[in-house]
Order: sequence, then C-alpha cells, then structure tokens
Amino acid sequence: MILKDLPKHKGLRNQLVNTIERKGIKNKNVLEALSKVPRHMFMDSGFMDFAYQDKPFPIGADQTISQPYTVAFQTELLEVKSGDKILEIGTGSGYQTAILIELNAVVYSVERQKELYTKTKIFLPKVGYVPKKLIFGDGYIGMKENAPFDGIIVTAGAPFVPKPLLSQLKIGGRLVIPVGEGTQIMTLYIRKGEKNFEKHEFGDFRFVPMLKDSNK
Ligand code: SAH
Repeated sequence: MILKDLPKHKGLRNQLVNTIERKGIKNKNVLEALSKVPRHMFMDSGFMDFAYQDKPFPIGADQTISQPYTVAFQTELLEVKSGDKILEIGTGSGYQTAILIELNAVVYSVERQKELYTKTKIFLPKVGYVPKKLIFGDGYIGMKENAPFDGIIVTAGAPFVPKPLLSQLKIGGRLVIPVGEGTQIMTLYIRKGEKNFEKHEFGDFRFVPMLKDSNK
C-alpha cells in the first residue's frame, strides 16, 4: 500500500476525470470527488500503474474495485446532497465509500467478505475517510436499525431487487442497483410514496455477483 499522493497521481487523476466527463458524466460534484480520492491507495501495490485507467481491478477475495466510470455513473444517479444518509451494499475496497464521503454523505456500508471488511475498516480512516458505520453482514437485508436512508447504492450485481432495500428508503429516496445475472441493467428506484416506486432503467453493466449471507 502506497500512502503518498504525488503530483503525478494528481495529474493522472485529472486525465481520468476528463475521460469520465467525455463518457457523459455531468455532475460537477461527482467529478470533483473523483479528482480528489487517491484511487491508487485503494489498490494493491502490484496494480499501482493501473489505478488511473478507467478499468475495474482485483482487490483480493475474488472481488474487484469498480471501474471509475461505473462509480461515477452510479453516484450521479444517487443525486447525493450534503448531509444525506446513504447505505452502500458491498464496501469492497472502500473506494465508492470514499467518493460518497467526499460528497459529504453520512455513509453506512455493508460487506459480506470478512477479509475485505476487516482490511477496509482499518484502511479508510488511515486515508482520512471515516464512514458512520461499516458492518460485516448480508446486504440483502439492508440495515434496518439505521433506516430510512436518502439513498441506497448496491455495488454488486443483484439477481433481483431485495425488498428490504426498497422499504428502507425515505419517501423521495433513491435506490441505485445493477439488476441481472451475467450482465446487469443499471436500475434506479425512486420512492414516491409508502407503496409507490418509480423505476428507471439505464445501460448494461457487469458486476461481481451479489451473494447471499455473509462469508466468514
Ligand atoms: N464498492 C466497491 C465494489 C466492490 S465489488 C469498491 O468500490 O471497491 C462488490 C462487493 O460487494 C464485493 O466486495 C463483495 O464481497 C460485496 N458483496 C457481494 N454480495 C454482498 C452482499 N450480499 N452483502 C454485502 N456485500 C456483498
């Protein structure tokens, strides 16, 4: 792990942000958050050279750090406002968590891989990103004790939309979830009323699968 952020990293990050902007991300706050979070620190040192390419990469325990464009796309759909309470399913490397914290969100995050959970829980505060709560558990059930949330973001491919996640949204809240097996359709649910949800579908993406139960 390299904990230094050098001018060369900043330069590479700015290029990455330009690439992501060209691919269609418009939200200035999202782009600014991407230009600030030192992605190279979230990856094993062997992959350091790839940190600022717009690609997903392995982070251990058979998982990946999402492609920066995908992180930007999902974050844009979430429409985070300062102080929003956000639940993330799939903490992984903590990169998406850090982007949400840069946007001044109060972040709750769940990870089902013990190894990743432990590593990221120690790592995030070291680089100055302190989530409100990180838990080791199963994202299919959400985090009832801290609900309702302004937004929920799922960063693994869900075979179906877990009901608890819909019911843990505030009225007006947004759930961003890639749905499908193999490839996923990025899907946004907006809670319009107690039982009333608006659904919007976006393009195809590929995520590691959202798995059942936690894995010790
Ligand atoms: N947000 C992460 C993406 C990691 S990949 C990042 O920026 O690095 C998706 C993550 O979802 C993996 O770490 C995987 O272990 C986790 N995951 C899969 N199924 C899950 C579930 N049911 N509950 C919680 N996390 C889950």
